[in-house]
Amino acid sequence: MNVPFVDLKAQYASIKAELDNAVSEVISNTAFVSGRYAERFEHEFAEYIGAEHCVAVANGTDAIEIALAALGVGAGDEVIVPANTFFATAEAVSNVGATPVFVDVEPDDHNIHPPKIYERLTSRTKAIIAVHLYGLPADMDEIVAITQQHNLKLLEDCAQAHGATYKGRKVGTFGDAATFSFYPSKNLGAFGDAGAIVTKDSETATRARLIANHGEASKNRHTVVGRNSRMDGIQAAVLSVKLAHLEDWIERRRHHAARYNSLLGDRFAVPLEPDYSRHTYHLYVVHVPYRDEVATKLSAAGIATGVHYPKAVPFTEAYAHLGYKPEDLPKAHDLQDHILSLPMYAELTDEMIDYVAQTLRDAVAAAKPASG
Ligand SMILES: *Cc1c(COP(=O)(O)O)cnc(C)c1O
Repeated sequence: MNVPFVDLKAQYASIKAELDNAVSEVISNTAFVSGRYAERFEHEFAEYIGAEHCVAVANGTDAIEIALAALGVGAGDEVIVPANTFFATAEAVSNVGATPVFVDVEPDDHNIHPPKIYERLTSRTKAIIAVHLYGLPADMDEIVAITQQHNLKLLEDCAQAHGATYKGRKVGTFGDAATFSFYPSKNLGAFGDAGAIVTKDSETATRARLIANHGEASKNRHTVVGRNSRMDGIQAAVLSVKLAHLEDWIERRRHHAARYNSLLGDRFAVPLEPDYSRHTYHLYVVHVPYRDEVATKLSAAGIATGVHYPKAVPFTEAYAHLGYKPEDLPKAHDLQDHILSLPMYAELTDEMIDYVAQTLRDAVAAAKPASG
């Protein structure tokens, strides 16, 4: 049996007519950049998240960079970032001229470990980026408390967590601003790159919109040096169609995760989900001994897996100059050799999940020395 890691063709097939119509409508109306489809999606997405404002931009990395700039983060500032996240979280910090300061993660939930944040605060700390990694909300009560005590800006990187909730509230509503990616394989994915910033603060929204559109406050009046980062009309129209299906897709991911849990939970550390959180399972990550050997065996059996991420960001070549050592971030360093992401997407079947789980159990049993 072949089990891909994600199957975007299966998703397209399930709503093909809706998507094809939406795309051809944009073409007929030639509303290619920003314009009415982007505006409609901004309203729909703000309402879905429960945010006052949404600014549609070109991708999730730009969203972080623009949000940081809109919050006044820049040269000389330090920004707290979890060690285990997609590279873009830190990259955006560097690209506004600030320095990412990496904090270790809690291995049970893979997210930033709030007590460790205190150890890394300095007089230059300006903001914290909370990443809701894999679709599980970070510990927002603790993080919000730290930002309030120390007068820091809070940005949520929700690229993997559209629709996730923490104590009854959607992620993206806790910080001064929050960012989303609609990269095709994200839980809500466009047909190319796209991203968004949401915020409850109208000034932050106005600044972000200004920066994303050449600093143009009104026709031909450029008030700041901004950039070009706008959402395409085709991407917005695709996202409007898909947003209507997102809750159904999240529920199916949650069903699949429950099935994986029941088949693997006795043997592996499976994803944690506190009862006050709703995990959206962008990624289903287990801890596996002999990870690389096991992943190779799964691949030979037709099962595609991933590692998110093989190197924690501070241990990448790009950040080697910051000089982090494994003992500075021991949990993130240990995780990078044991995490394995299993196939996860709405269209998976129970049969596929059973096959993945059994093959994983067999592969680990075969890799394990006979010591018991
Ligand atoms: C995907 C992702 C991003 C970047 O989004 P792009 O749209 O690919 O630029 C940022 N942060 C996290 C955690 C992500 O998973």
